[in-house]
Amino acid sequence: MQTFSFDPVELPPGIPALREEIRAFLQVELAGLPASRRVNSWAVFDAGFSRKLAARGWVGMVWPKQYGGHERSSIERYVLLEELLAAGAPVGAHWIADRQSGPALLRFGSEEQRSKYLPGMARGETYCCIGMSEPNAGSDLAAVKSRAERLPDGRWKINGQKIWTTQAQRCQLIIALLRTSPVDDKNRQAGLSQFLLELDTPGITIRPIVDLVGETHFCEVFFNDVIVDASCLLGTEGEGWKQVTGELSLERSGPERYMSSLALYFELLRVTGPNPSDTIRQAIGRTAAEIWTLRQMSLSVAGQLARGKDPAIEAAIVKDLGNSFEQALPVLLQSIGEAGLDLQDQTGFGRALALLLQTSPSFSLRGGTREILRGIIARGLGLR
Ligand SMILES: Cc1cc2nc3c(=O)[nH]c(=O)nc-3n(C[C@H](O)[C@H](O)[C@H](O)COP(=O)(O)OP(=O)(O)OC[C@H]3O[C@@H](n4cnc5c(N)ncnc54)[C@H](O)[C@@H]3O)c2cc1C
Repeated sequence: MQTFSFDPVELPPGIPALREEIRAFLQVELAGLPASRRVNSWAVFDAGFSRKLAARGWVGMVWPKQYGGHERSSIERYVLLEELLAAGAPVGAHWIADRQSGPALLRFGSEEQRSKYLPGMARGETYCCIGMSEPNAGSDLAAVKSRAERLPDGRWKINGQKIWTTQAQRCQLIIALLRTSPVDDKNRQAGLSQFLLELDTPGITIRPIVDLVGETHFCEVFFNDVIVDASCLLGTEGEGWKQVTGELSLERSGPERYMSSLALYFELLRVTGPNPSDTIRQAIGRTAAEIWTLRQMSLSVAGQLARGKDPAIEAAIVKDLGNSFEQALPVLLQSIGEAGLDLQDQTGFGRALALLLQTSPSFSLRGGTREILRGIIARGLGLR
């Protein structure tokens, strides 16, 4: 039977100074931002903030300088992400490009695609969304039906529909997973390819979906006879499944998978002050212990990635435990909040709590559901 490991990571010298630099920047940039704007902050789109962050060299931080990156280490990037998420910075505009689309271009993109799009991403100006899910293809991603047909002149004609495409209405680019050969029932993952498309291409329609809290965070994207050049293919025709799987491990392994609700915890510490009641004190202690444990596990995954390993099982475990934690936290704080906090407060704790109670059920869906992750863990351990 296979196992998994969470080796401790020793942070390299220079990290405390980087942390201080980031904190000083965030203290100025986020001054006065209420807790309700800090929760789930990697879903908050703020192009101005992304540009300012990029000007400090903190977008595309690990990419080659040739493409506008800064060639910093992945552990330095991990520390940056921790600080941004802990502070509740609105990082949603550049998040996907920085985390997975840019790295996908570096791995699979043509020289033309890299030099055309990566510098804008690294400046915090070009944003990309993920076109994987469809109405009948979520957990079962191999069921993707949207298709690209090669035309006699070498161009592609695209038809179909994506759904739950985060921030599509505000992005310039999408990486879409499309079927380029008919389904082979013996190998459903074959015949899929990735395409890097500009979202203002004629024939693409984007329809935002209003979510439970009234935000338009994700969209439907329709492709109706969209004609694109051969150069829009990303990577190799027919290798889409393999490429996407590599992207998913980047999507699932980061600290955002346990830190989405932390701003509410910090708000609790602020409003209860140095002498909270015993009930609140216990909740604070228990939560701190959980955060610390998850943080060590998440950092260990980052350390393994930095050493060139593929900690797929460990990443799935952190995402599963992390999602459970960030969903349980608002419920716990609601129950203790009822013991004496102002839950009707529309600017601070109460508003942040209300938002998280309504949005956190989605945390264990985005990036792969709990059941799917547990299946990956079981398969990795040789149990299925
Ligand atoms: C906030 C948010 C943002 C998202 N952003 C994007 C995005 O930007 N781009 C994108 O492509 N997608 C995005 N998604 C879609 C997300 O990836 C899918 O919602 C997810 O993969 C689940 O697919 P589904 O919604 O079709 O549910 P289904 O796959 O239909 O699953 C429904 C339920 O059945 C369970 N289930 C399904 N199959 C199995 C199985 N084999 N064994 C056990 N249980 C199973 C699931 O766990 C789930 O509980 C986003 C989703 C959310 C909530």
